[in-house]
Amino acid sequence: MTHIDNLIAENLARVQQRISQAADSAGRAVEEVQLVAVTKYVDAATSAALLAAGCPALGESRPQQLWGKATEPTLTEARWHMIGHLQRNKVERTLPLVDLIHSVDSLRLLKSIDESSAKHGRCARILLEVNCSGDIAKHGLTTDGLKEILPQLATFPHVEVCGLMTMASREGGVTTAARNFSFLRELRDQVAGDCPPGTILAELSMGMSHDFETAICEGATLVRIGSLLFEGVAR
Ligand SMILES: *Cc1c(COP(=O)(O)O)cnc(C)c1O
Repeated sequence: MTHIDNLIAENLARVQQRISQAADSAGRAVEEVQLVAVTKYVDAATSAALLAAGCPALGESRPQQLWGKATEPTLTEARWHMIGHLQRNKVERTLPLVDLIHSVDSLRLLKSIDESSAKHGRCARILLEVNCSGDIAKHGLTTDGLKEILPQLATFPHVEVCGLMTMASREGGVTTAARNFSFLRELRDQVAGDCPPGTILAELSMGMSHDFETAICEGATLVRIGSLLFEGVAR
């Protein structure tokens, strides 16, 4: 093991420990919370160290970077999560490489994903991204936008909508983050009846390095953590 491999393994163990403590305090089982290690800051070798240390779910926010890493021989065992903005012209190439797309934020993108996965005889797993902070610089559907899309999901049989994703406001610290996260959870409960039969919004992807414990407390099932895993590692 190299120095980097050791550091990454230690960082990962520390993050996993904090996830398990947060789940515990929230009265939740640790198995309900999945860590997606966000590797956008580091190269393929450093990403592979996470895989070797026992974290199979890796996330990238840029399609091109995901394409590059997903085809690296050292990273073929990883399960990739697309967590950033996805343009329609990048769907075709991204779909076969990913386990879950967290960031679907328009009907047009949903339609492209459905068409592309139909062509390959697949069913794409996705989350709908909601803008809970009201921050106009952020991607994500409005509440109304979400409510408009949900009843139409039956017309996209090659897409499985597994839940919702959000990013907390950067300002306001954990109090604001907690409000953004509980908003997403309550919204999920509120719109359950707008979904076609068989669509269950079980997943809530929320929480990053600085607010994942708050997110777990508010019901996150997927936390997307980058920075904390690379402390002490040059990037
Ligand atoms: C970068 C990124 C993360 C991880 O952020 P950290 O603060 O480094 O943990 C999570 N989600 C998305 C969408 C990101 O782009």
